[in-house]
Amino acid sequence: MTQYDVAIIGSGPGGYVAAIRCAQLGMKTAIIEKYATLGGTCLNVGCIPSKALLDSSHHYEDAVKHFQEHGIEIPGAIKVNLEKMIARKQGVVDMTTKGIQFLMDKNKIEVFEGLGSFKDATHVTIKKNDGKSETIAAKNIIIATGSKPSTLPFIELDKERIITSTEALKLKEIPKHLIVIGGGVIGLELGQVYKRLGAEVTVVEYMDRIIPTMDAALSKELMKTMKKQKAKFALSHKVKSVERKGKEVTVKADNKKGEEVTFTGDYVLVAVGRSAYTEGLNLEAAGVKLEERGRIAVNEHLQTNISNIYAIGDVIKGAMLAHKAEEEGTLVAEIMAGQKPHIDYNLIPGVVYTWPEVAAVGKTEEELKEAGVEYKVGQFPMRALGRARASMDIDGFVKILADKKTDEVLGVHMIGARCADLITEAVTAMEFRASAEDIARMSHAHPTYAEAVKEAALAATADRALHV
Ligand code: FAD
Ligand code: NAD
Repeated sequence: MTQYDVAIIGSGPGGYVAAIRCAQLGMKTAIIEKYATLGGTCLNVGCIPSKALLDSSHHYEDAVKHFQEHGIEIPGAIKVNLEKMIARKQGVVDMTTKGIQFLMDKNKIEVFEGLGSFKDATHVTIKKNDGKSETIAAKNIIIATGSKPSTLPFIELDKERIITSTEALKLKEIPKHLIVIGGGVIGLELGQVYKRLGAEVTVVEYMDRIIPTMDAALSKELMKTMKKQKAKFALSHKVKSVERKGKEVTVKADNKKGEEVTFTGDYVLVAVGRSAYTEGLNLEAAGVKLEERGRIAVNEHLQTNISNIYAIGDVIKGAMLAHKAEEEGTLVAEIMAGQKPHIDYNLIPGVVYTWPEVAAVGKTEEELKEAGVEYKVGQFPMRALGRARASMDIDGFVKILADKKTDEVLGVHMIGARCADLITEAVTAMEFRASAEDIARMSHAHPTYAEAVKEAALAATADRALHV
């Protein structure tokens, strides 16, 4: 039986990054993945394919709605070829997942295809698709098995018309009316894809605002711009039944007043969150304990109750984000190598890849209020930027929250063109515990969207934004 320094179960962004870092640190490393392609949810049915469809549908929307304004005329009708769009997306996925296989080979990481389950605390059995099994031994084991879509107890997902994000990434037709249950990240990103392609889209959300965990100003602005794009929203609606009859789906929900509201469409996307995935791991054999909501319990070193077994990514507490899983993969590898790494969870940015993009890091205004922290707000509208007017992407703003006494930046919340990339400036500044004035005094290239960050910092420091 081959003995490894570390065996990693699951090859998503948590698992594969952990594998690379372990190999870099000189450990004999094995990674086990039940699917034929590496990369997990993120690369196969998550981040990458959803962004590919967001980009394609964005190009289409631009061609239909904005090209003429730019003086570009296309003779004849502009049409969507959904089959081709989905095939391009799959091409991107294939290229990206092959890239992970290349990285495994390059780093001399042994890849096992099959379902990994614990035999005991130092042995993993791999059940292969041909029915054969193999057991490997490892000094340390990292569980990186990720998550799967959650649903509501009364919903029967038929995966044809009552679907999750996985099916929404490969539909064969553009829905006439897509009903989205859940106004969180998945619902809004994939809702916007099909809205742009011509579907009617209604988002039914339980809370009184969309993206409810982000700063309320972002929820308001995103809903305003998505309403301009003709998406419909039913907030404070508690869904109570979902039924399909032939090609028709019906969603019933109770509104705030307790009245029943019925939505009829041809597809329902259930996007009410994701839950930790531990099925088939046989955790009992190793003695690994779960915490509430079925997640694997870990300490601050991401160690489970069994000291040589670690867990990272979506299968443990915290934000279900690829970059959070990656940081944790690196952290565990370095801890096993005797180093003392650290993750500041407050500084893991969150992004919604709608257009305008939404991005945030640090504390929201609601969180600061609740904690009784005295703060200042500096906000700057995108429409005041020359760059925004040049591209006609004028929606949105940057909002900086800084400590009232020390001026330290406590939170940055932005919505607008390219905010997914702009947020990194805020993360960098906050990692170095910058004040709003530090950002305000840095030169920002002109004309860029990044100037909104400088202007918001100026506004937060001394209410002296220059261009409003
Ligand atoms: P996963 O990526 O879920 O990988 C776990 C892997 O483990 C899977 O490949 C699974 O097959 C394998 N596995 C499970 N059990 C076993 C077993 N017993 N044996 C062998 N293998 C096993 N996050 C972002 O940061 N940015 C985004 O833009 C973004 N977009 C998303 C869009 C969608 C539609 C979805 C669904 C998610 C998105 N996410 C995004 C979230 C992101 O995909 C996850 O946070 C991330 O993939 C978590 O990584 P992970 O390594 O913990 O687990
Ligand atoms: P989410 O937690 O972002 O949103 C779920 C939404 O559903 C919430 O607004 C919630 O209030 C609502 N909801 C819950 N129960 C409901 C009910 N009964 N009726 C109506 N609404 C209900 O979850 P998601 O959008 O499914 O995404 C899952 C995870 O994937 C998220 O944690 C997210 O971090 C990750 N993800 C990230 C990205 C990104 O980083 N851009 C993209 C997609 C997914």
